[in-house]
Amino acid sequence: MKHYFSLIIILLIVSVFSLYADSKIKVVTTLPDLKSITEEIGGDKVDVFAIATGYQNPHFVDPKPSYILKLAKADLFVTVGLDLETGWVPPLLNSARNAKIQKGSEGYIDASTNVPLLQVPSSVNRAEGDIHIYGNPHFWIDPVRGKQIAENIFQGLVKASPDNQNYFQTNLKTFNDRIDTKTKEWITRMAPYKGSKIIAYHNEWPYFEERFGLKIVDFLEPKPGIPPSPNQLVKVIGEIKRENIKVIISSPYFTTESADLVARQTGAKVVVLATSVGAEEHIKTFFDLFDYNVNKLVEAFK
Ligand SMILES: [Zn+2]
Repeated sequence: MKHYFSLIIILLIVSVFSLYADSKIKVVTTLPDLKSITEEIGGDKVDVFAIATGYQNPHFVDPKPSYILKLAKADLFVTVGLDLETGWVPPLLNSARNAKIQKGSEGYIDASTNVPLLQVPSSVNRAEGDIHIYGNPHFWIDPVRGKQIAENIFQGLVKASPDNQNYFQTNLKTFNDRIDTKTKEWITRMAPYKGSKIIAYHNEWPYFEERFGLKIVDFLEPKPGIPPSPNQLVKVIGEIKRENIKVIISSPYFTTESADLVARQTGAKVVVLATSVGAEEHIKTFFDLFDYNVNKLVEAFK
């Protein structure tokens, strides 16, 4: 008899825990940055999994069966959109066969919705392998656009769990207020370097550049997604010398050979910035991302 009681108690505990786990909104995001923002707004009501790591090139992620399992059980899916993840998201969503999160469903959140975009071409053209054909998709590397991303995620969370609307709303306000405060602080720190000319490896910084008053003169890639060519490097070396450029910014997932070569020829410094949360172990939130990049740049320009 005693055994039965213990068994019943154990079963009760297990079912309470599984109820609790099930009550959370299961969210899958493509990037860790979207995960961080979802956690800011969703708080303890969400259980979030990010497919890509912060040190992976977000254009090229290898689909794994474990991602499909996560997507199959998800209530919400958050994607950057445009053509950032074109190569890997559609096959994953197809395989997951989860109607809740297919494009057009309520559980599919396109983070680019209502985000003011830069570099939107007048016509869609994949000529020479260009992978930014709907406008520049790296808009999350701007704290202020992070507020629109948060708004889009908020809308999705409210649809998934209307009872928690007030809770999400409060978290959204806290997030937005903190972004405003921190952005002022970051802009102040970058102010002495306003107008500084730099070179970037891949064209993923226009939003960051605009927010913090930098001037990106050229890229090591001749076109987004096309590896640096000797001609392009010669051109960039000329520009660095002519314009007295001191800094080349790169990202964790690019090889260092071409940037190092240009640096050796010109004396410019290569600075590897973080393009996503998790690029370095201590970059744990969307706020850490900008703290890290601003610190790195201030250090480089000094
Ligand atoms: Zn790109």
